[in-house]
Amino acid sequence: MDVQDRIEKLRKTIELNAYKYYVEDNPELEDWEYDKLFRELKDLEEQHPELIIPESPTQRVGGISEKFAQVQHKNRLYSLDNSNNSDELKQWYSRVLKEVGTPKASQLSLLGDNYEDVELVSELKIDGLAVSLTYKNGKFVQGLTRGDGVIGEDITNNLKTIKAIPLKLFEDIDVEVRGEIYMPVSSFDKLNKIQIENNQKTFANPRNAAAGSIRQLDPNITASRDLSIFIYAAIFDKGLTVLTHSDALDKCKKLGFKVNKYRKCKNINEVIEFCSEMSEYRKTLDYATDGVVVKVNSVAMQNELGYTSRAPKWATAFKFPPEEVWSDLLDVEFSVGRTGIVTPVAILKPVNLSGSVVSRASMYNFDEIGRLDISIGDEVLIKKAAEIIPKVVRARKTSNSKPLNLPQFCPSCGAKLIEIDGEVGIYCPNKEHCPAQIKGRIEYFVSKAAMDIDGFGDSIIEKLIEKEYIYSPQDIYKLTYEELLTIDLIKDKSANNLLNAIEESKDVTLSKFINALGIRFVGKESSDILAQSFKNIDELKKATYDDLSAIDGIGEKMAKSIIDFFANSKNIQMIDEMISLGVKIKNKYSNADLLRLKGQSFVITGTLDTMSRDYAQAKLKELGAKTPSSVSKNIDYVVVGENPGSKATKARELGIKILSEKELLEIINGG
Ligand code: NAD
Repeated sequence: MDVQDRIEKLRKTIELNAYKYYVEDNPELEDWEYDKLFRELKDLEEQHPELIIPESPTQRVGGISEKFAQVQHKNRLYSLDNSNNSDELKQWYSRVLKEVGTPKASQLSLLGDNYEDVELVSELKIDGLAVSLTYKNGKFVQGLTRGDGVIGEDITNNLKTIKAIPLKLFEDIDVEVRGEIYMPVSSFDKLNKIQIENNQKTFANPRNAAAGSIRQLDPNITASRDLSIFIYAAIFDKGLTVLTHSDALDKCKKLGFKVNKYRKCKNINEVIEFCSEMSEYRKTLDYATDGVVVKVNSVAMQNELGYTSRAPKWATAFKFPPEEVWSDLLDVEFSVGRTGIVTPVAILKPVNLSGSVVSRASMYNFDEIGRLDISIGDEVLIKKAAEIIPKVVRARKTSNSKPLNLPQFCPSCGAKLIEIDGEVGIYCPNKEHCPAQIKGRIEYFVSKAAMDIDGFGDSIIEKLIEKEYIYSPQDIYKLTYEELLTIDLIKDKSANNLLNAIEESKDVTLSKFINALGIRFVGKESSDILAQSFKNIDELKKATYDDLSAIDGIGEKMAKSIIDFFANSKNIQMIDEMISLGVKIKNKYSNADLLRLKGQSFVITGTLDTMSRDYAQAKLKELGAKTPSSVSKNIDYVVVGENPGSKATKARELGIKILSEKELLEIINGG
């Protein structure tokens, strides 16, 4: 694969996972896996600067959802660049010295060691969610998520429910502070226990629990979750000048904010010492930390050093190495997912990893067992970072090792397992009757991004399948109060709640409905693209392979899978049955007055000044337009922001109409 292809592949994977992490609060990769991809991309871009484009994830910060009102930050929020070890910390410090250090009087050489030290401040890096809080006259007036750094989500009402956020400061001043919202680990454990009792989805780690809790549409839910905050930065109004970051933190404390302990370090060696102390000390804390943030203390020097497009040059985040531990592999269990894929799970001798006891670990798929050469009785290396589900990453043989027999038959229904051409892994082919697959499909069908029916926990779904009340998603709409009461977990009140939730789910958007169908390879995003491209489900049913593969964002594999899905009469019957049971599908993209831009396509390139690109694209989509990512002759407009790159040149070559950001705004606002 050539460098350009690898870079594009990395960008796609990183963007997809960043979306899952920042917008959906539902990451699939572990942080260290994500960081590895990110670093590879950064290294490749450094070696080939001509391939850097402004849209690259290395040039951007986070992401925003459309759930809350989107508000532009008065002062931009940034991410942080990482240093993974002491050598990288030293390299960063050397760059700082060269930029702002004073050469030692004795040796006026340009080498880092020959500079006077620049004072630094080290703080623990809290693993939570960044917010910015604005106070006017000492009163809390607005709270925003970091979002993409330029635009944040307005979550003021939710933030007001957090006791550690003062509604009134000890002085009547104007200030904007930044901090990290987190959920104490003990509260996270409690919350997950409650989620299990209520048959609700559990959270992967305290960061996700905090992000999910603070971005609730109902502030009462946020209020019921134990959240707190550490403030780590402040921008004071003109009247108040602070010369150092440590003074700003002290001032915040005096104003009534919760500020974590920090240490002033004379030089980078003191920082390295602090990092090594903290890597042990963090294990005693009731909040998750993923590193140490090191900042240049002098504000004047910070200003001189400035920023890259995504991070300050005056700070770096030392990331704690992912923790790993060896354990014995006692057994391997095989579970079956909604598509029939069989996944192996390692059953381990319980072992302590980053403060929690681990007895199960993920092993990806069958091929991974072969790649790692895993046998029962092996010693296996388990790794985890930032409290996410641990994984087996290495195995070594012992005298007890004995071959691992891969199953021939489905552990759920007994069907003979098969391989599928061109697919990784092994599958159960019994799509219709395998209980594990039915369960997987129902879980997917009721999930938030699909029909969004609250109250269907794991064990309730299992019982309903066991009692043969449901085989297929549409059976949910036939459930009766009497049937629900035969399940021992369900009492009068919860039966009524469940029936109400089922009833409410009947009003569904086309995008969610398509997602709920569980068509292979068609997820939330692609469902949204399909809803923009077809008026209703009947139009989609009739779409040809050519219609589908012509849509930007729908690949060949997906197009083929959609055709196969609608060619199966059982699927058509399922949809018809749902509609006759009262499901009403509305397409939010074909609302008459929202269709101003139907049929028109806009490509946005470069950085926009007043809004993020994600926001502009979302707005255009709402108005019926398409927003593909690449320029071709079929595009109507190319919106050109700052530092636009090759897309603008291509647009000019093709004679496509170029719009400025101002013109785009006029179009969005009805011009
Ligand atoms: P980051 O978390 O590495 O660093 C920036 C953030 O650190 C700031 O926005 C701030 O919120 C926070 N922070 C905590 N304590 C701080 C302190 N004392 N001072 C200053 N800032 C402090 O950067 P990011 O852009 O938010 O996220 C990138 C990280 O998110 C990656 O390193 C990765 O681990 C994770 N991520 C994971 C996935 C995944 O799929 N698992 C996807 C995207 C991102």
